[in-house]
Amino acid sequence: MNDFNIKRTKESIKNVLLKDSGMYEIEAKIVSIQQTSGPTIFTATDGTATMELAGFSAPGARTYPEIKEDDVVKATVVIKEKDGRRKNDIVNIGKITGPLRDTVLKDIESRIIERSRPDAVNFLVRSEALDRLKSRFIAVATEIKKAVIEGRPIIVRHHADTDGYSGGIALQRAIIPLIEAQYGTESDVKWYYFARAPSKAPFYEYADVLRDLSSALKDVEKFGQKEPLIILVDNGSTEEDLLSIRKAKIYNAPIIVIDHHYPGEVANGRVKVDDFVDLHINPYLVGYNNTLTAGMLCVELARFLNSKVQNIDFLAGLAGIADRSSGSEFEQYVEIAKSRGFTVEFLNKIALAVDFEAHYLRFMEGWKLVDDLLGADIEKHEKLINLLTEDIEFKLKEQDKVIKKYLKVEELGNGVIVGILDTSLTTHRGEFPAPGRATGMAHDYLKEKHPGKSVVTVGVGPFFVTMRASDSAVRRGFNLNALVKVLKDEFPYGFVSGGGHEAAGSIKFVEGAQAEIVSSIVSKIRSTG
Ligand code: MN
Repeated sequence: MNDFNIKRTKESIKNVLLKDSGMYEIEAKIVSIQQTSGPTIFTATDGTATMELAGFSAPGARTYPEIKEDDVVKATVVIKEKDGRRKNDIVNIGKITGPLRDTVLKDIESRIIERSRPDAVNFLVRSEALDRLKSRFIAVATEIKKAVIEGRPIIVRHHADTDGYSGGIALQRAIIPLIEAQYGTESDVKWYYFARAPSKAPFYEYADVLRDLSSALKDVEKFGQKEPLIILVDNGSTEEDLLSIRKAKIYNAPIIVIDHHYPGEVANGRVKVDDFVDLHINPYLVGYNNTLTAGMLCVELARFLNSKVQNIDFLAGLAGIADRSSGSEFEQYVEIAKSRGFTVEFLNKIALAVDFEAHYLRFMEGWKLVDDLLGADIEKHEKLINLLTEDIEFKLKEQDKVIKKYLKVEELGNGVIVGILDTSLTTHRGEFPAPGRATGMAHDYLKEKHPGKSVVTVGVGPFFVTMRASDSAVRRGFNLNALVKVLKDEFPYGFVSGGGHEAAGSIKFVEGAQAEIVSSIVSKIRSTG
């Protein structure tokens, strides 16, 4: 080997990642060790970046067995390009021990702390609620940046609607460049360290936590990988999330929640899930409500993570439109989206297209597909949205005729309008639009037909109802989450669960109790106010 003729220089890993060839000396901590059928791979960080070092003695043999995880080492590494791929081969490696180990480790740790600091940004909009949440944003951003630097895989689990996808993808667009900065853009390790997937139910479903844990725990065992940081978006704040959250905590996965669903009673800025999650952003925790949607919160968080993040500002307005938000923040976000070239009409089309795609994707991540619907590929964007819009508009028109024919409407003397739609008889099973959207369409139709009245619409399914209430109905005391509580008491044999926002959500029960429960719901609406 004439490698020794090459000049050897001491360098930070960040700088080494920028070089194509040469021999370098680094001081670093070993994060994980993986035995391949060829070399032994040591993942090492000095706090500036992370690098995989290959040690080879014989195929499949554990090389440098004296080097263990968490050791602090001094290594000489040769960087070469072979077949278009970078190789980082260890020439020699030795443990640093004694007082020098402590000094080097302290330096590494202080670099990690320094680099975990959130980027200094202001919120995109003026908002008291956001100001009150600011310390939480800073804590969450710090934790996520630290995970990237320390090589902890990140899983973003988001609700499978446009708000959830907007939030999940805003975070993805901020986090992937951080991972690339940590490992070098040539590395494909970003696929190890980041995953995003939707949750079909409006909470962290047990089937989803099992999927997340089974693949993560395999990597823990196989590669000495850290347990994943799980970020729940547009999900995670409610009691229905608890089973999955507690399961993941037993396996030592840190959990961050970014949600705007009603989280139950708040005492001292805390709710029930706070006994289990590590960090939690939800406007209800600081005395506000759901009008700041998960997509908006994640767009703001993405900027704290990565002030150079591109192509996310419009996602906040999009999320708000899709989730039917209102209020000052919503209006400001829509103005921002307009200033980025998106008309409200086009945002509405995107919102529908994403919901359409999400409906058919179910639990598939739709990695590139939804990313493109959210403008990742500017050239494809309009083409994709227009293609889907044509089909969606046709289906919605057909659905509209069905609704107008079969929707049952009661006009009560007290100004309350009750709409009842039997969704089993009026939607195509498994197709778009699903019962929830059909109920929303019926609700919009009734609100338009009866301006100023309190409208509550009930979409009835075999073992569920999905409900929408107008603002005036809410002002008169309608609250879906409270209704769930009452029904649980009234029908202890109905296996009742569910909830959502106070004006929109769904309630589940056993099929045998459907007739009783629906008639009880309707009679309660009749006496609203
Ligand atoms: Mn939402």
